Amino acid sequence: MRETAQTAREARTDWALELAAPAVRGLVPYEPGKPIEALERELGIREAVKLASNENPLGPSPRALEAARAALAGIARYPDGHGHALRAALAARHGVDPACVVLGNGSNDVLDLVARAFLGPGTEAVMSAHAFAVYPIATRAAGAEAVVAPARDFGHDLEAMAARVTARTRVVWIANPNNPTGTRLAPERLRAFLEALPPHVVAVVDEAYHEYAAPAGEAGAIAWLAALPRLVVTRTFSKAHGLAGLRIGYGVAAPEVAELLNRVRQPFNANAVAQAAAQAALADEAHIARSVALNREGMAQLEAGLGELGLAWIPSAGNFLCVDVGREAAPVYEALLREGVIVRPVAGYGLPRHLRVTVGLPEENRRFLEALGRVLGR
Ligand SMILES: *Cc1c(COP(=O)(O)O)cnc(C)c1O
Repeated sequence: MRETAQTAREARTDWALELAAPAVRGLVPYEPGKPIEALERELGIREAVKLASNENPLGPSPRALEAARAALAGIARYPDGHGHALRAALAARHGVDPACVVLGNGSNDVLDLVARAFLGPGTEAVMSAHAFAVYPIATRAAGAEAVVAPARDFGHDLEAMAARVTARTRVVWIANPNNPTGTRLAPERLRAFLEALPPHVVAVVDEAYHEYAAPAGEAGAIAWLAALPRLVVTRTFSKAHGLAGLRIGYGVAAPEVAELLNRVRQPFNANAVAQAAAQAALADEAHIARSVALNREGMAQLEAGLGELGLAWIPSAGNFLCVDVGREAAPVYEALLREGVIVRPVAGYGLPRHLRVTVGLPEENRRFLEALGRVLGR
């Protein structure tokens, strides 16, 4: 009886799968960090700590919250599909023309726009091992082949990546700093790599953690756009700006490239509340400075605590770090959940002995370190 039910279930799955586009059949959905509410529900506990998705523990700027509340009054109307005000503010901030800025429903949306605009069956995209999980998903969903170069010291090996660029390559994905490893490429080395790419390749430099990596306000890869017309730089309001739940990010590219991305963009992908909040967040530089300072202190706290536990970690330029727990990490992750601490397993990134932990508030970091010590018996 049970077997029959199971067979019927499987048959139904096959039935749907056969209808799916070939590119979709092999996809595995992105696995997000576990929400606090889910863990508290499952364990019947309260005050769980989530250090699993690299969110800003300070939350957003109060000015962004105020702008979001004010924007709620207008949500009967569609948002500005051109995102005029926010794009103008971003263009001014980065010293580019507004035509260079493309808004996204989070920067993941922009990554997907790049894949849809430049990839398809018969093409390839090159990325590094341990790179951000959305790159292979966006690549394969577009019907293209994901070509993964081995990493060096957990970070991007630019020589290995260059060696995998072929006549079929259309996109190269690079996160700088990278998630989940936190590794960062020296700007001059990255720039030399980008300059050497052949003219049929678009490069994406994903700077989701730029504020943490370059606290002095360096321009990052956006400064290279004038010289590198096939570059797309992505940024987000989800991390240092503390607006992950609103879903707003952007890409900066040559106007010709931005125009292509806009062809495949949903007209109202950036919602009205998010646009208003992002604009206010962008203006609140003091909040970013506070967030970056808190991150620096929290990173030092985590490193000191991990050192006391005798553990190794990958030095990180972001607001998170990957710790080597010295054994298979999945049971450690599960045990930490039972301690009310949510971190991120990264076995799916080829790192089965590591866990990624987001830098939290001092008290959250302390709870993580104490729980980890108990779980590991140290
Ligand atoms: C978190 C993250 C993003 C941002 O995603 P959003 O869609 O903007 O929330 C992009 N790239 C990397 C590498 C990230 O870690």
